[in-house]
Amino acid sequence: MTPMTPMIQTNPRPPIVAPPHPQWPDLDPTAKQALKDRIRGLLKAQNAVLVAHYYTDGDLQELAEETGGHVADSLEMARFGAQSGAETLVVCGVRFMGETAKILNPEKRVLMPDLAATCSLDEGCPADAFTAFCDAHPDRTVVVYANTSAAVKARSDWVVTSSIALPIVRHLAARGEKVLWAPDKHLGHYVERQTGADMLLWDGACVVHEEFKGFALDRLRRLHPDAAVLVHPEAPDEVVEQADVVGSTTALIKAVTELPNPEFIVATDAGIFWKMHQLAPHKRLIAAPTAGEGATCESCAHCPWMAMNALQSLERVLLTGDQEVCIEPTLRERAVIPIRRMLDFAAAQVSAPRLAD
Ligand code: SF4
Repeated sequence: MTPMTPMIQTNPRPPIVAPPHPQWPDLDPTAKQALKDRIRGLLKAQNAVLVAHYYTDGDLQELAEETGGHVADSLEMARFGAQSGAETLVVCGVRFMGETAKILNPEKRVLMPDLAATCSLDEGCPADAFTAFCDAHPDRTVVVYANTSAAVKARSDWVVTSSIALPIVRHLAARGEKVLWAPDKHLGHYVERQTGADMLLWDGACVVHEEFKGFALDRLRRLHPDAAVLVHPEAPDEVVEQADVVGSTTALIKAVTELPNPEFIVATDAGIFWKMHQLAPHKRLIAAPTAGEGATCESCAHCPWMAMNALQSLERVLLTGDQEVCIEPTLRERAVIPIRRMLDFAAAQVSAPRLAD
């Protein structure tokens, strides 16, 4: 990688404070099975499917797969929702994922277990300030990560996910375009280093991935010399630099199934372990350290907003329908353009390599 100093927006936003993790009452196996059975019945009665992200609770991922739904990264979630014949999509993830599903499927009802499940990247990139930032740099092509509001997407030229960011930015750089990137500065800096594109970065970060510590990872690697280190590019540079594989959630899961290593140190949200265990039950998975000096846990990498998705909140929304995603039609018409641009690009790239695969 070529060392370079990132150009980052000079008026940083106030830090985003993550909410406490929701505390769901423990369910004994009989009660959990009964709850899952009730949810199955509600899904069937409402012609609804579950679309769950890899960071959500394992029970939700299992239920999605058992009931004809889908578990995926945000790009595949968007694709699946658009292809599904169900009348209702129940998106288990965070709000921008529900919004993307609604933008692509305006005729479908889109529910989420809890509409308050947001994302520090989305929260840290308000549309008014972002619009002013774009207006100040009219010579740049605006590329936004999927972890943004519908209003921010509507102001962009391209939407990308972590699995398609590299080929899209390479494509833009090859056309001689300069990029304005938002909101994740760590992912933006990674893409900048990999592509050599001229990029101006918004000053945002994921509160989960930013906590991974390079010095503690270095110590852990020495204790596990046979382990491959898998890192999501929302992590800081000093963590990414130690990775054997840098990539989207899908790329990291693929690495666990395909690399010969017996152990993996994984620097992304702990929700991903459910799918990794399912696909590679004999591999040992070790959570990369988030703990700093004086911390009370070694690794606390779980998104508090993803944790708002639970069997209990899922049943509640299927009973009440009160957490429905709605997007104002004119906003939707603008936001769908850069999302479709990404999906069309991805469709044309099916045989090309994806981010750090
Ligand atoms: S893990 Fe980070 S990027 Fe993903 S939803 Fe949570 S805060 Fe946002």
